[in-house]
Amino acid sequence: MTVKKSPIWHPFTQHALQHEMTKVVRGQGAYLYTEDGRRIIDAIASWWVVTHGHCHPSIVSAIQKQAEKLNQIIFAGHTHEPAEEVAALLLKLVPRSLDYVFFSDSGSTSVEVALKMALGYWHNIGEPRSRIVVMQHSYHGDTVGTMSVGARGVFNAAYGPLLFDVTSVPFPALGHEQATLDALEAACRDENPAAFIVEPLMLGAGGMLMYPAWVLREMKRICEVAKVLFIADEVMTGWGRTGTLFACEQADVSPDIACYSKGLSGGSLPLAVTLCRADIFDAHYSKDRTRTFFHSSSYTANPVACAAAKANLDLWQNRESRERVGSVAAMQEKGIEPFRADARFGNVRRTGTVTALDLIGCDKGYLASSGPRLQAFFNSRNLLLRPLGDTIYVMPPYCVTAADLNEIYAAIKDAADALV
Ligand SMILES: *Cc1c(COP(=O)(O)O)cnc(C)c1O
Repeated sequence: MTVKKSPIWHPFTQHALQHEMTKVVRGQGAYLYTEDGRRIIDAIASWWVVTHGHCHPSIVSAIQKQAEKLNQIIFAGHTHEPAEEVAALLLKLVPRSLDYVFFSDSGSTSVEVALKMALGYWHNIGEPRSRIVVMQHSYHGDTVGTMSVGARGVFNAAYGPLLFDVTSVPFPALGHEQATLDALEAACRDENPAAFIVEPLMLGAGGMLMYPAWVLREMKRICEVAKVLFIADEVMTGWGRTGTLFACEQADVSPDIACYSKGLSGGSLPLAVTLCRADIFDAHYSKDRTRTFFHSSSYTANPVACAAAKANLDLWQNRESRERVGSVAAMQEKGIEPFRADARFGNVRRTGTVTALDLIGCDKGYLASSGPRLQAFFNSRNLLLRPLGDTIYVMPPYCVTAADLNEIYAAIKDAADALV
């Protein structure tokens, strides 16, 4: 029998095992305050969205002002100042290949839009292609289309019959990079794919798996030669996570299509964008109405969310924000460094402001029993950490202090002492 006080069904939550939800009443900077009077350090930026900190004053103020003026408007046939400002500012920051901005409301949707743009492009230029090439262990969202291009496993086993077929290339594990490049080259040559979609430099939900910039650059080169559209899913890697504003910068890669969400509003309101090259837009530009890009969300480019994003983009124009990313990366290196010599941990790694390490000697995979036990341990230390199975990772908001990080890494060490 179900014993449950609240009618709410939570995401990625097994209610039979987790009965109590932590009730949070306030967030400020890197901290969350609970109803029962605890202060929790948000070491995963509330699922990778919070960049400058919870309730950043300039973002809160922009939201307040916009909410009083215009809080929603149909975006077909209409526009508004916050959306125009966000689009213009984005084009100043993103790789130079990108010319047009399509708004939506979540990372998953931005990926669906990217896939539809790619297929629409090939359809409209009269060379229909539909195959998508993906990378092993990828995650691109939880809708049916994004599950199709993501890793198959326990998350989507029940929905397999609905998912479309893709071609997968292996993850470029250290020392095995050439196998990835060879597989991509073969897929591009033999399967006439519409697009290759990839998370640049770091695969998030797949276990914080990291690979170097030269592999990203080579993958882009292979797609370019084969005329396969290159889709960069920067939903998680964007906004400083990898040490640069966008991961593609480090490989000097200009994608054909790029998806950004999560930190786009600084982690305050749901918003996403899919950017594309001019010729993808042009393939849809016609007096023939059948060539229209048929996609919309009800809240496309919501003005309040756009005002929050505008305030966030303004923060990124300041040198301090970029410098802050550099200093968080340095503090993160200092925190993770001692674990490289600790035999209880494997694959100790860092890209930019994100660190990850695998706990050795416990069962592996997302459903590893160590996952919930670790989470409960960290909760008892007033830390929000949410291991991906046996992989512990730290992805803090950039206002995190050295003292906060000390507390986080001390708890990770203690967790190994207590659980391994
Ligand atoms: C989180 C994530 C998504 C999905 O974003 P939602 O806003 O949760 O729909 C897509 N791609 C990547 C790489 C992500 O990390």
